[in-house]
Amino acid sequence: MTEHMDAPSVVAPAAEPVIQVTGAAVQLGGRTIWQDVALRVAPGEFLAILGPNGAGKSTLLKAILGLIPLAAGSIRVLGQPARRGNPAIGYVPQRRHFDADVRVRGSDIVRLGLDGGQWGLPLPFLQPDKARVARQRVTEVIDLVGASAYVDRPIGELSGGEQQRLLIAQALVTQPRILALDEPLDSLDLRNQQGVAGVIRHISRVTGAAVLLVAHDVNPILPALDRVVYVAHGQVAVGTPEEVITTETLSRLYGTPIEVLRARDGRIIVVGQSAEEGVSYHAHH
Ligand code: ADP
Ligand code: MG
Repeated sequence: MTEHMDAPSVVAPAAEPVIQVTGAAVQLGGRTIWQDVALRVAPGEFLAILGPNGAGKSTLLKAILGLIPLAAGSIRVLGQPARRGNPAIGYVPQRRHFDADVRVRGSDIVRLGLDGGQWGLPLPFLQPDKARVARQRVTEVIDLVGASAYVDRPIGELSGGEQQRLLIAQALVTQPRILALDEPLDSLDLRNQQGVAGVIRHISRVTGAAVLLVAHDVNPILPALDRVVYVAHGQVAVGTPEEVITTETLSRLYGTPIEVLRARDGRIIVVGQSAEEGVSYHAHH
């Protein structure tokens, strides 16, 4: 047998990271936001991006999305350099909500996810077979996020949790391998936080998409998490919640004493002196 015949004909795709960040740094306004970031994300992994306000969590997602250039290092997405408009990443930006007077129907919001990207044109201009596939795709993702019951109502009338489900559905219509969600649980009450977190976990299991979820409070997503990416003071710590959200690691990251407590129900409570940085907010819930 030749060497060439011994080689596997297909490289197992599961072995390839969907995201590979190597020695990455970002500078904005002449300031280094973070540096020396290394991260490998496997297909289907569920990662939470945590850290105080202004630490660079949104910047990390934007760098992976190719929206912000790196000052050092590299980011590869599915083996290619990070690039803007990559349909392999479904993105829900931070703090998007609709005012009560927005009359656009939920299903139309979801359909917008097909505009641009690989589809190029809004739905009415698609060829009939493409339009049928597109409609089917929209229905599928609405089912997947459990939004069927209210998808015909104006989005402005819907609750924050319902709006968030529809925005996640919008990000799913291109069948992304990676879902990048920037604080999707922000401003939801606890019940809705758990509901939306459950939907995201379900999506990740059904579609195999890797999830990068920026969160303010780790607790509602703790059952879903594989690893956390903790961003603070220009540094990033990556590992399981048990490895990263510890008194020792967070105190090192912040450069100031931080105490991590475990409540009897398993909830993680982070207590710190840097309240202005938002360190202690975990304890407010
Ligand atoms: P987070 O999402 O963790 O709250 P961000 O990633 O939004 O933080 O921002 C990280 C830091 O970068 C903040 O200090 C923010 O003020 C700064 N920043 C964000 N965008 C710009 C920009 N375009 N120019 C200069 N600084 C910026
Ligand atoms: Mg942010």
